[in-house]
Amino acid sequence: MITDRRLEITDRRLRISNYLLSAICHLLSVLVFGLWSSVFGLFLAGCVSSEYNVGTHRQDTMFFSTEKEVGLGQNIARQIAKDFKLSNNPHDIARINKIGKMIAAVSDRKEVSYYFYVIVEDDQRKTDEKNAFSIPGGYVYIYKSLFDMLDDNELAYVLAHEIAHVVSRHGVKRLQAAMGYNLLMVASIGARADPEFVNGLSFALAQIIAGYSREDEFNADELAAKYMKMIHYEPKSGIDVLEKLYEENKKEIRPMSYFRTHPYTAERIRHIKEMLHLPLDVNDYINS
Ligand SMILES: [Zn+2]
Repeated sequence: MITDRRLEITDRRLRISNYLLSAICHLLSVLVFGLWSSVFGLFLAGCVSSEYNVGTHRQDTMFFSTEKEVGLGQNIARQIAKDFKLSNNPHDIARINKIGKMIAAVSDRKEVSYYFYVIVEDDQRKTDEKNAFSIPGGYVYIYKSLFDMLDDNELAYVLAHEIAHVVSRHGVKRLQAAMGYNLLMVASIGARADPEFVNGLSFALAQIIAGYSREDEFNADELAAKYMKMIHYEPKSGIDVLEKLYEENKKEIRPMSYFRTHPYTAERIRHIKEMLHLPLDVNDYINS
């Protein structure tokens, strides 16, 4: 009990000091430059850094260090484990980890650990979703319904594409833009009992699932093709997956979730074909 209380007090102190740090950080920016230039202020207060992005080969302005990104990812992953039903079938776990870890081992971002999960049922009790997504910090998810319809090459492509979103930090950049520094801090280091913390996590997950820009999707496909070649898998499988999903989508009444999370399907097929120097056919221009 005493240890528990001490832990609780230390935990509370840590949280308070984290909040204080973030508050001081923001206050400094506001004091020095006013609200209109708070981002520039954060730069001077040392809270923002310009970092070289290994996935896109560009300089990025980041509020968020890798350490904070991993903390945020862990919190979202914990929430998913609580609200979703994840597969505990040893065959599923072995298959996704075998392929996922091969790709993670050749990826351009190795300072984060990658974790792979098969979703059997989500928080809306949906079991027939055909979707995959990754969250900041290296957590990759695929729905069982999609997982079971892909061969190993196709599964490798889907996982490589999701790992690529983590490598290029697409998720965390999107969250920086949508949530701002303070809310993102609350979601990454907030108190578990704080409703704002839980809301922050749900909002973050919804933002990730809402899909990325065309440029981010193309970048994730370029990296996925590169990683597929490195593990001696077939990069053309990316086209097979997208075409397979496109055909499945025609059968469904509502648009398939994969396309909501990953828009620009027809353009992505064209882009992958051009990248792999494969001939384009007339369907590549009419699928959309
Ligand atoms: Zn994507």
